[in-house]
Amino acid sequence: MSEDRNARHKRAMQRKKEYIDGRIAEATIDKGLLVVLTGNGKGKSSSAFGMLARSVGHGLHCGVVQFIKGKWDCGEQKLFQANPLVEFHVMATGFTWDTQDREADIAAAQSTWEQAKKLLADDSCNVVILDELTYMLTYGYLDKDDVLNALQSRPDKQHVIITGRNASDELLELADTVSEVGETKHAFNAGVKVQLGIDY
Ligand code: ATP
Ligand code: MG
Repeated sequence: MSEDRNARHKRAMQRKKEYIDGRIAEATIDKGLLVVLTGNGKGKSSSAFGMLARSVGHGLHCGVVQFIKGKWDCGEQKLFQANPLVEFHVMATGFTWDTQDREADIAAAQSTWEQAKKLLADDSCNVVILDELTYMLTYGYLDKDDVLNALQSRPDKQHVIITGRNASDELLELADTVSEVGETKHAFNAGVKVQLGIDY
């Protein structure tokens, strides 16, 4: 009986391997990806910084531009800011509901975006993270076409990762990979405060 099961398992795995090997052989395109991580659940920025860790591990040159945040003492910033492979820019104004000042937010967003644009035009920058960029577009702080143009005309091999809720249809259309992180449960809703290492 258990031999039968083992033999069935082996046949199933052989078929699976043939299928997977075939799919891998078909994937021949090599290009810079636009990855969009959106949705209401937790895990967008931490996924982006996971890819940053991978990239730095391989010795790639990376740029990080964090929109909105920066008032908290983020672990990722502490870790990567001193790394010679990473150029780190933070729009240190905090959340829009803290600043409550649209004019100042727009000025900060635009000067931070100029840093992002430089990275998106830089051939030697392999990976660019635009953390929380989507809010700059939903609030109308940045010109949508300017952002889409800069993304479209970036170097062919450059990877870009964008995070933030409510990514626009145009951004999703332009992206190669989109993950929508859903909120099944979040500790905050049970009254748990932000936790060092897990949340920042
Ligand atoms: P993370 O940086 O942990 O990957 P995120 O980028 O997906 O989170 P953001 O919307 O940028 O999510 O929020 C950042 C902070 O807010 C984190 O501390 C995170 O734990 C918390 N957070 C994320 N999603 C939720 C949620 N649905 N409810 C409450 N807090 C959340
Ligand atoms: Mg985030």
